[in-house]
This record gives sequence, C-alpha cells and structure tokens, in this order.
Amino acid sequence: MAGLKEVKGIGDKSLSLLKKLGIENEEDLVQYYPFRYNLIRVSDLDHLIDDKVIVDGVIESIPKVFYIHKNLNKLSFSLNTGTRILTITLFNRAYLKQSLKIGSKVTVFGKIDRNLRNIVASEVRFSPLLKETIEPVYHTTNGIAMTKLAQWIDEVLKTDFSVIDYIPKKYLEKYHLISKKESIFEIHHPTSEQQLKKALMRAKYEELFLFMMKMSELRENKMGKIGLERNVDFNDVEKVIETLPFTLTSDQRKSLEEIHADLTSPKRMNRLLQGDVGSGKTIVAILSMYMNYLSGYQSTLMAPTEILAIQHYENVNKILSPFGVRTVLLTGKLKTKDRREILEKIASKEVDLIIGTHALFTEDVIYNNLGLVITDEQHRFGVNQRGNLKNKGITPDVLYMSATPIPRTYALTLYGDMDISSIKASPSGRKEIITLLRKEEDLKEVLTMMFEQLKLHHQIYVIAPLIEESDKMDLENVEQLEQKMNRAFGKYYKVGVLHGKMKGIEKEEVMDAFQKGEIDILISTTVIEVGINVLNATMMVIFDSYRFGLSALHQLRGRVGRSELQSYCILISNYETERLNVLTKTTDGFKISEEDFRLRGSGDLFGIKQSGMHAFKLADVKDDFDILKHAKLDAEEYYMSDDFKENFILQELLKKSEDLD
Ligand code: ADP
Ligand code: MG
Repeated sequence: MAGLKEVKGIGDKSLSLLKKLGIENEEDLVQYYPFRYNLIRVSDLDHLIDDKVIVDGVIESIPKVFYIHKNLNKLSFSLNTGTRILTITLFNRAYLKQSLKIGSKVTVFGKIDRNLRNIVASEVRFSPLLKETIEPVYHTTNGIAMTKLAQWIDEVLKTDFSVIDYIPKKYLEKYHLISKKESIFEIHHPTSEQQLKKALMRAKYEELFLFMMKMSELRENKMGKIGLERNVDFNDVEKVIETLPFTLTSDQRKSLEEIHADLTSPKRMNRLLQGDVGSGKTIVAILSMYMNYLSGYQSTLMAPTEILAIQHYENVNKILSPFGVRTVLLTGKLKTKDRREILEKIASKEVDLIIGTHALFTEDVIYNNLGLVITDEQHRFGVNQRGNLKNKGITPDVLYMSATPIPRTYALTLYGDMDISSIKASPSGRKEIITLLRKEEDLKEVLTMMFEQLKLHHQIYVIAPLIEESDKMDLENVEQLEQKMNRAFGKYYKVGVLHGKMKGIEKEEVMDAFQKGEIDILISTTVIEVGINVLNATMMVIFDSYRFGLSALHQLRGRVGRSELQSYCILISNYETERLNVLTKTTDGFKISEEDFRLRGSGDLFGIKQSGMHAFKLADVKDDFDILKHAKLDAEEYYMSDDFKENFILQELLKKSEDLD
C-alpha cells in the first residue's frame, strides 16, 4: 500500500488531518466515500420554481471589473445560453478575469432576477457542460477543504493504485458485481445514476459481507468453544409441563426444543429468546433451567429489577420445587448475614437455581458448576456483568430474553453472532387489547370506563410520567393523580402508589398487595415497565402519553391483556401524535418496532447508536436490508468453506478488525 506522502499536494500537516478521517494510505483515501450526492441539473429558465438557477453557456464578452470600494469589487460578463444572453455578475471575484475568456464554456450557479436577464453568481465552473451531474459530497475535517480532498482522491485515481477486493469470486459472479476498482471510480465520479447504484451496491455488499464474516467469527469464538454436554431426556421435562395450568404454544415448544438441542450439544449456547410482551418467555426460561438442573448444574436468572426478580422467584418455586429444585433469591437488598448464608449455599451447591438482580455477578459470588446463565428483559449491552463470573473454569451456556422487539434488520446486525428463538404468537384465548386515545378533558369518560372495570373486580394501572417534580407545571405527578383517583374511587376502592423513589421493601409491599388484589388502582411511574404479571389487571391508563416513546408505551401496555379477560389501554394526551395513532392500530410488537424505526429513523433506536454497532461506511441496515440478508447467508456459507481456509488475506483482515463485542 502506497503512502500518502507521494500524493501530490499532501504535506505533513494534511497527513495528520487525514489520519483524523481514518485515512492512512492510498487505499483508505480512494475508499473514503462521499456521504451523499448532489444532483445538479441545468435549469429550465422557462419553468423556474424559485430564483436559484444553474445555467450553461459560452462567454460572449471580456469580463469587466469595477472596484466599488476597498473591500468590494464586481466582475461581470455576458453569457450566451443558446436561447438567451444573460449578464452574469460576481462579487469579489476580480481574480477570475484572466480565466474567463471569450468562447469558454462555463456553468454558472446563482440567483436570477425577475426579468431573467441578470444573474448574481455564486460560482462559475469550467467543467464540461453536462445536462445532469451527480456531484459527490464528502465529510471532511477542519483544515481540509472538500475540494482539496476530492483533488487528492483524483490524484490517486490517476495512478495505478491497488485495492484488495475481499469479495470471493463466487459471489462476484453470483451477483454480477463490477470490479472494486470500477466501483471506486464510479463512486467518486458518477457517470449515471444507474452506474452509481451498481457501484454503491457492490461497495455495500462488500462492507456487509465483511461485517457478517466477522459475526461468523465471533459466533465461532463464543459458541465454537467447548460447552457443556448434557444428557437430558425431554420426557422428564414433559413431566413438569404436564403440571402447568396451560398448554405451551407451538412457538414456546419450538424455542424449548432449540434450547434443548443447544444444551445437549457439546457446543456452547449463545441464544436470544425473543418474544413480545406477554408471549410467555418466562416458562421457557424456567424449563431450560430445569433441563440444566437435571444435568447437575446450577443456573442463574438475572432480572433488571428487584420486583421482577421476586416475581420470578415465586413463579419458579411454584413450578419447580415439587420436582426437588432448590431456588434462592439473591438481590442487593439482602442483609449481610443472610447474604453470607446464601453465598455459602451457592458455593457448596446446596442450591440449584439462583435468581436475582445484578447482585448475581458481584465479586464475592462463587458458583459451583454454573451451567446456564439467563438474562431477562435486558438489553445485551447492559450485561457485561457476566465478565465477573466466578465459576471454576467452566463456560456456561447463555440465554438472553428480550421483549424489546427489534426490527429484523437490527436483529441481524445486533445479534448476528447469536442464535435466535422467537415466540411470535401469544397464548391463545387472549383478546386483543382495546386501545383508545383520549384528551385530558375527557377525564370523566375515562373515569367511567375505569369504574366499569372496577365493578367487575378487575384492577387498573394508572401511569404518570414524572415523580414529585411539581415545578414542572403541566405534568400530572403521582401525588396529584393519587388525589384525583381517591376523590373518584377512594370511598369503595383502594388506591396504591409505586414510584422510583420508594425503597425496595416498600415497592415489594405495594406490588404484593396489587398482586393479591388488595389494591384496585395502582398509580405508578414506569417502574412497572417491564415484566410485571398481574393477570387480573385489565386496564391501563397512561397520562401524558405523548411523552413516552413507542416502545416504552408498547411495553407498558403489555402489562394488561395477559389473560382471557378483555383489556383496555387508554392513552391520555392533549396532543395527537403519529406514535400514539400507531398504538391504537396494532398490538403487534414487531410491527410497532418497525414503525418506531420508521418514525425515528435508524438513529438512536434502543441506544444502538452509542454502541457503534451499526456504524457502516455506506450501508444502512434499513435501506439495504436485502443486501444485508444476502451478505449474511453468503458469509455463513463462505465461513465454513474450504476456500476461506485458504483465504489468508481475509483471515488477516478479520483478525485485525476490532472485536465488536
Ligand atoms: P413475557 O414473555 O412477557 O415474559 P410471561 O412469561 O410473563 O411473558 O407470560 C405472561 C403470562 O402468560 C403469564 O401469566 C404466563 O403464566 C402466561 N402464559 C405463558 N405461557 C402460556 C400459555 N402457553 N398459555 C397461556 N398462558 C401462558
Ligand atoms: Mg418476562
């Protein structure tokens, strides 16, 4: 790879600036791609939309220069466009006089007057006249003008530069892709929209193919590792399933079988269990832990909040203790003495399942043959705690559970190194949640609807967006709502409050009371956003709902509609937003996430941006999803092929690129 110093015009100072742009050699430079293109069209003077014009023509007169005062000069000449003669004026461009010769063909950019006679020009170009030009626009850095950058790129393009084409021949042929060099020329100097598209598509494919190769490698590194081999008879699992008050859905069964296959294979499991809110992931996790238990290993189940951990703990105990499984709860709120006792039990393997919060992975927890680590409702980027795992040298299998439906596009990139099980259909017998949009002035109507539910002995969640920030004037805070609800229903029904500033124990007490039906209306902040499961709750009222993101609203709404009872979600908002309308139309989490994606763009969805995971140079996982899909399949195929074993250049590249995880 040739250095940059040989490139005409690049000095030491530019070198360090280019480095900032990630350009360290000629190969980088020619692959420094425009981030967008401008389409420059010569204006049709008979059909102008505004006064901005681009005209081609031949210079007809020697430019005249007037010095108006010290800092202002004016240059003008006449231009023959073939159909008209225009007077072109440029300010402070006297130095152009020499180059603007009679007979030269130029393109003029500027503003035209009403009579279509005079143009005040901002730019005059000597480039050949084209009716339509696609002009690249580059990101650059302070100290390097875009034109300079383009010039340097051109300098290299003129030479016999070399680039490595990483796309295996097989796929070049399969998709009739143009060569890398050709595409590079086209990307910097587009000849037509169609050709440019071909060039970009090739470059994107290469980028995504390499990314997917990297994913295959990560997958191999993680899952190719020798895992634990188990011998679990599925019939033993069936015995637990038989005791459940429901039959598993086919998606639940399928997920369970996939996990069973992973656990009994010698390879390490690294799996995401994806399923909409209420789809029934927990039971799959519980049965997975049971399989692990049958092989004599410990399991952990980590929940994001204390309340959820407790809920899981109770649930697990109910289902598995009859089968001899010993479960403990390990949270940060334990008293020192209790904690020590529990830690001893874990270390001496007197317990099989350990359920808790982040406390599961603090320094002092020493596991005894931990074979399975399950993380519930947690975004994968929050789970580095696993790094602290003290586990006597064995590598446990890993299962993530997520109810945050991720558009297929992101799932592929974000979880490209994992296997994915999906629970798509919710348990049958459930009725679609009825979602209504109401204004604050309709409160009376809302209260009436609430009363209908209360009369049926059903429970209600009321969601307030902020806590005790009464200075933020318009917001319904929890206390205000509490008063309001008590005024309306306090005489006959019990109103409870749950918010983030309460202590863990207080929260538990309230949740417990709600679970038992002792509280009829639970006013809460988004503390209850994830996981809580109270089947008798059939209505959710969300105040100031426009303040929430789509996904958050969807998660919240998922707290109701968890049984055969008809459930309702009432979104209160004085502003009608597109987001809120989406919710009234569908309860399908995947559709909602696609919508969210569309409304917000591929920007900061789920904080993915911060992770840098989607930082592609050219490709956009949403717009280029088709290419992505092909690249994924091809990369998976190629990774296993003999060709790859001999492709040292590509192997080298993959080794070099930083670890994405
Ligand atoms: P999530 O996927 O949101 O974690 P849960 O696992 O909490 O959902 O399940 C929601 C509710 O559905 C629970 O009450 C659970 O017992 C129940 N459930 C799970 N599977 C089924 C099923 N196959 N049929 C009926 N109810 C089910
Ligand atoms: Mg759950």
